[in-house]
Amino acid sequence: MESEKKLLSIIVPVYNEEKNIPLFYEKIQAILNVLSYAWEIVFVNDGSCDKSILELEKISQKDLRVRVIDFSRNFGKEIAVTAGINNCQGVACIILDADLQHPIEKIPDFIKKWEAGAEVVVGVRKKNKGEGFVKKIGSYFFYKMINRISDMKIVTRATDYRLIDRIVIDAFNQLTEKNRMTRALIDWLGFRREYIYFEANERIHGVPAYSFWKLVRLAFNSMIAFSLFPLKLAGYLGVIITFFSGLLGIFIMIDRYMTKELHFSGSVILAVVILFLIGVVLVCLGLIALYIANIHAEVTNRPMYIVRKARSR
Ligand code: UDP
Ligand code: MG
Repeated sequence: MESEKKLLSIIVPVYNEEKNIPLFYEKIQAILNVLSYAWEIVFVNDGSCDKSILELEKISQKDLRVRVIDFSRNFGKEIAVTAGINNCQGVACIILDADLQHPIEKIPDFIKKWEAGAEVVVGVRKKNKGEGFVKKIGSYFFYKMINRISDMKIVTRATDYRLIDRIVIDAFNQLTEKNRMTRALIDWLGFRREYIYFEANERIHGVPAYSFWKLVRLAFNSMIAFSLFPLKLAGYLGVIITFFSGLLGIFIMIDRYMTKELHFSGSVILAVVILFLIGVVLVCLGLIALYIANIHAEVTNRPMYIVRKARSR
């Protein structure tokens, strides 16, 4: 009987969560045990410098369904989650934080949506409980911006708390880029998606490891990875400057040789000439940027398309 049950994987990135781990494990196993699935938990210890790894090993020695991937140093949550996805064996996996901010009791809801046919179930935060003003504003503008400048849609407040089907896991495993934002990549992959709304809990133990600057860096990285707009900016600027300084130049010429009314001084003419040339330089930069964009696309080596294979459920 037991062997007929499908396997569900839970992926948990861990960075300095020694106090949260036992609590997390107690709570999640109580919920997983009543499901009609077999389960495994893949903890990825992302180079914690506290006793997290001891706690994890204690659990995995008692419980064979718990596996631990132990990083040699801190590689960041995005990479930790990637390692979990690469190494899980289930017909679907659920990714959630170890700090209990992602309400564990929502797991059955994720599974229900998945059983009803969704291939990606995304957890969306209702409120940013216990989050600073700066972070709120920051994430608001980040989502506004990325939806503007890149060609995929990202829902505001969509979190990493997600369930993804095996076909999405397999597609995800084809991606080779190193500098990554996991949830943006999952969004890029597409597939049928559903949303679960939840209220994030406050952190009980420990401090959030994502500092403000780490988040800013992540935001910049993902804008660069998913949009060519920053690259093209110089080019656009150049076109505008060239155009208007060119007009101005023509106007000055006409006045100097024909109407002879305004008498532009030499320095004005010089300024306009320089402006024009700066415009030309920026246009050239923009052209180079287009080539770099091509190189970027080749180097990132994302597959050109993603195929939905027959589902094996
Ligand atoms: N985390 C990680 N590596 C890091 C930072 C965080 O694996 O470098 C894990 C952390 O243990 C937690 C999750 O990622 O399970 C979310 O981290 P945190 O609570 O600091 O972020 P926030 O809740 O502010 O998004
Ligand atoms: Mg957290």
